[in-house]
Amino acid sequence: AAEEGFDTEEVEGAIDAAGHGPLPVLAVVGRPNVGKSTLVNRIIGRREAVVEDKPGVTRDRVTYEAEWAGRRFKVVDTGGWEQDVLGIDASVAAQAEYAIEAADAVVFVVDAKVGATDTDEAVVRLLRKAGKPVVLCANKVDGPSGEADASYLWSLGLGEPHPVSALHGRGTGDMLDAVLEALPEAPEQSFGTAVGGPRRIALIGRPNVGKSSLLNKVAGEERVVVNELAGTTRDPVDELIELGGVTWKFVDTAGIRKRVHLQQGADYYASLRTAAAVEKAEVAVVLIDASESISVQDQRIVTMAVEAGRALVLAFNKWDTLDEERRYYLEREIETELGQVAWAPRVNVSARTGRHMEKLVPAIETALAGWETRVPTGRLNAFLGELVAAHPHPVRGGKQPRILFGTQAGTKPPRFVLFASGFIEAGYRRFIERRLREEFGFEGTPIHISVRVRE
Ligand code: GDP
Ligand code: GDP
Repeated sequence: AAEEGFDTEEVEGAIDAAGHGPLPVLAVVGRPNVGKSTLVNRIIGRREAVVEDKPGVTRDRVTYEAEWAGRRFKVVDTGGWEQDVLGIDASVAAQAEYAIEAADAVVFVVDAKVGATDTDEAVVRLLRKAGKPVVLCANKVDGPSGEADASYLWSLGLGEPHPVSALHGRGTGDMLDAVLEALPEAPEQSFGTAVGGPRRIALIGRPNVGKSSLLNKVAGEERVVVNELAGTTRDPVDELIELGGVTWKFVDTAGIRKRVHLQQGADYYASLRTAAAVEKAEVAVVLIDASESISVQDQRIVTMAVEAGRALVLAFNKWDTLDEERRYYLEREIETELGQVAWAPRVNVSARTGRHMEKLVPAIETALAGWETRVPTGRLNAFLGELVAAHPHPVRGGKQPRILFGTQAGTKPPRFVLFASGFIEAGYRRFIERRLREEFGFEGTPIHISVRVRE
């Protein structure tokens, strides 16, 4: 059999590479123009993430995956933000607070040529309060002559300043070594079911879809606020809410309850806030206003949850306002705009009337069950064998690439590693995903499939 060509070590190596569970998260924070985006680009080893000289570039994607010395982690980019929304200090502080909250460790970037400013000092206070490990990056040290500038930053009291040139790469390797030391092996928000505790839900969606109304409706009198720190306004707040006889933790509800009214930059903050909540959650409930057309922003929020690998439930709110015509068009829109997440359980609710609130919990449970599904290797390979026999990969260049063997490397979300005798085309990979879903369920969860070609 084809499988005989695989030794255990190879399979295990592939499983490691495919990754287990969630990755630790690194936040890169600092004033505008200190070089955060440049540094993030260097860390993730890609150039396409935008670096612009003018501040105010609104970003949708705020987390990236990176790897250094064989370890993988996520980077939260707090670049492109609006500097004149709240005044510079408050803006930097808000941006840093959101990012720090979501992170396991922080790289604090200071422009060594400029030295520490009052704004930098303000961020230092936040970092102290948060108590997360910090690596101090003294940026724009493009040559040896700049090292003296870097040493002045000892005065910030954050330990050794790492002289770096994000632009040219100088010193970034040493700094990344320090980052790896600061990052925990596994993130603090570990998904281990053995840990127990309530399951974590992020209730997300664009402004005005009804998040706060829904939270109030489901919570009633039951809500218990946890993790609230006195004297701060922007701390994320988790709330314990009993639904269907089970206690759930709604993460980061401060962003829902206390709506920060910002003219500019609101989208960016909302996006960071959403990313932070998604990072902390196991399942994302994306609320969509069914009375309005599904927007690009709705799609982005869905994409954020999917890319973060969380279980997903789509909740269409304001159902009480829909007439027959709107219902007809909504179904069409869902097919065209949200077709890529057709696997997500869907509920049609009204936070106002309470319609179908009782359907929310079963949908969430379904999604979490899909997220945790594990297919035994034997069953998977029986399935793959039949599939490949019935639907072989198209012949390319006189050869027929074959899926030889597969294994599920992880859950939450399910990750598969397939071994193949040649390049497997994207279309065929999608076909396999579709068939995997038909066979094993995976309702409400993204699934990752990576293919190793056996040379
Ligand atoms: P951000 O606002 O903190 O994200 O900063 P950017 O990454 O957009 O960088 C601001 C400016 O500083 C850009 O013009 C960069 O080219 C420049 N810059 C960033 N890193 C370095 C560096 O290491 N050395 C020098 N000389 N310039 C840098
Ligand atoms: P958030 O910004 O997502 O937290 O949205 P809110 O909960 O503040 O709701 C925005 C507006 O939509 C408010 O005026 C709510 O009263 C209204 N709203 C929320 N849910 C419903 C619903 O199910 N039906 C109707 N008709 N209005 C709703």
